[in-house]
Amino acid sequence: MSRQETKTDVILIGAGIMSATLGMLLKELDPNLQITVFEKLASAGEESSNEWNNAGTGHAALCELNYTVEKPDGSVDIKKALEINEQFQVSLQFWSYLVNNQVLHNPEDFIMPLPHMSLVLGEKNVDFLQKRFEAMVRNPLFEGMEFSKDPEKLKEWIPLIMQNRDYKAPIAATKMDSGTDVNFGALTRLLFANLAKKDVGIHYKHSVNDLKRTADGHWEVKVQNLDSGITETHSAKFVFVGGGGGSLHLLQKSGIPEGKHMGGFPVSGIFLVCKNPDIVAKHHAKVYGKAKVGAPPMSVPHLDTRFIDNKKSLLFGPFAGFSPKFLKTGSMFDLISSVKPDNLFTMLAAGAKNMSLTSYLIQQLMLSKEKRIEELREFIPNAKADDWDLIVAGQRVQVIKDTEAGGKGTLQFGTEVVTAADGSIAALLGASPGASTAVHVMLEVIRKCFPEQIPEWESKLKEMIPSYGIPLKENPKLLHEVHTLTAQTLRLSEKKPIYN
Ligand SMILES: Cc1cc2nc3c(=O)[nH]c(=O)nc-3n(C[C@H](O)[C@H](O)[C@H](O)COP(=O)(O)OP(=O)(O)OC[C@H]3O[C@@H](n4cnc5c(N)ncnc54)[C@H](O)[C@@H]3O)c2cc1C
Repeated sequence: MSRQETKTDVILIGAGIMSATLGMLLKELDPNLQITVFEKLASAGEESSNEWNNAGTGHAALCELNYTVEKPDGSVDIKKALEINEQFQVSLQFWSYLVNNQVLHNPEDFIMPLPHMSLVLGEKNVDFLQKRFEAMVRNPLFEGMEFSKDPEKLKEWIPLIMQNRDYKAPIAATKMDSGTDVNFGALTRLLFANLAKKDVGIHYKHSVNDLKRTADGHWEVKVQNLDSGITETHSAKFVFVGGGGGSLHLLQKSGIPEGKHMGGFPVSGIFLVCKNPDIVAKHHAKVYGKAKVGAPPMSVPHLDTRFIDNKKSLLFGPFAGFSPKFLKTGSMFDLISSVKPDNLFTMLAAGAKNMSLTSYLIQQLMLSKEKRIEELREFIPNAKADDWDLIVAGQRVQVIKDTEAGGKGTLQFGTEVVTAADGSIAALLGASPGASTAVHVMLEVIRKCFPEQIPEWESKLKEMIPSYGIPLKENPKLLHEVHTLTAQTLRLSEKKPIYN
């Protein structure tokens, strides 16, 4: 059996939005870096980053109620919302840089302006939303947010949701016109197409099966060419494990101590997609509600206008579900094979702690279409099952680890970058807020893994991201400049023709 052997500066495992973003950042910072990508599927952006596998929300905390918490004294803590908004501003700036430098040509191919709204029912929730609005609108990052509990106003904002509604229960919404719908699948494909032009070697149908550190501190990666069946050996000074749900297994194979005592718990997503164009045309927003009691934060229901394949669509969900697979195209043995001697007790503790979550997910998975339509009716009171189809979205593998606050086996709902102490390998685990914050997260990888190059790269970083290293919430002038720049370049403030 013949073996191909190559040596390169950087290996990126997986062709999702994370590897695409890291590859593009690195190539802009040092065009001479040699980068090789291995992806087991036939093309880029086919797993979670695919437009049909995620909700396409440009998460900027403009509408997601789970990013703000009501404290025991009744006040609303918006710290996490501020962080996420700052992180999204970083993505917007980098994408603007890529448009200005003709790496990306038409912003409409991957980002569209779309109002983001939060919608609640019932007196207690209305009070919470009002307090949340008052806490947020004072901050420059959320300037322009509107609040209303007037049904007439809400009819203007969300006619489809207000049609045939019984007005007995108090209702309220907030609206931010500066929200976005992002086609992360299209963005991933565009970035990889561009990386190919920059001499990045992209190998599809190549599955990374193993990796180990060599005596000189580099990494040797065993890659199976899925067409020929041949196992190749490639080595690099730095490896990024951007395998999405596949990252945990690869991190475990790397054997780095930082990857020990960690596990993963997969949560699948299901959406209802509307097939009636008359209904699709009546809605123009992302409207986020409140998560049901016992539901994990990623299953907050929302009714979303989407722009996919030059067409306006309407999606509702996600309904959470359970599948032992870590990738949509993964194996039924993914969960069980991720249990290792070092994480056994962490996983057992997580299992014991999250019995109610597991039964919630199984119960969600068993829901009939009619039951799902009943949940949709909380948003569209007269929704009819015939107008909607079910589609299976991506898998999100939530990180399980031992934490001081939560103890052994605590389920995390965020994103974790795990890096070796020498910065020679980094892996991305978790999936929230996800693709929207890819640029911020990949800058974190660069900061941890390329510390010696940062001083040399700093001016380029500032050219790409004018707010690099500066908190925008404390700099309203810079924030205003950044908003103006990104809105103009990405054409987010223009009233665009809405296609159907
Ligand atoms: C239901 C759902 C809704 C979501 N909604 C949003 C949203 O509204 N907004 C948002 O910002 N984010 C959202 N996300 C999260 C977002 O989709 C992910 O955070 C993001 O796509 C992850 O990108 P990635 O590059 O890490 O992984 P992926 O896109 O999954 O890419 C990983 C790639 O690695 C490949 N791979 C894996 N193992 C190997 C291996 N051994 N060898 C070679 N290749 C391998 C896979 O085939 C895949 O192509 C959502 C996710 C889900 C599931």
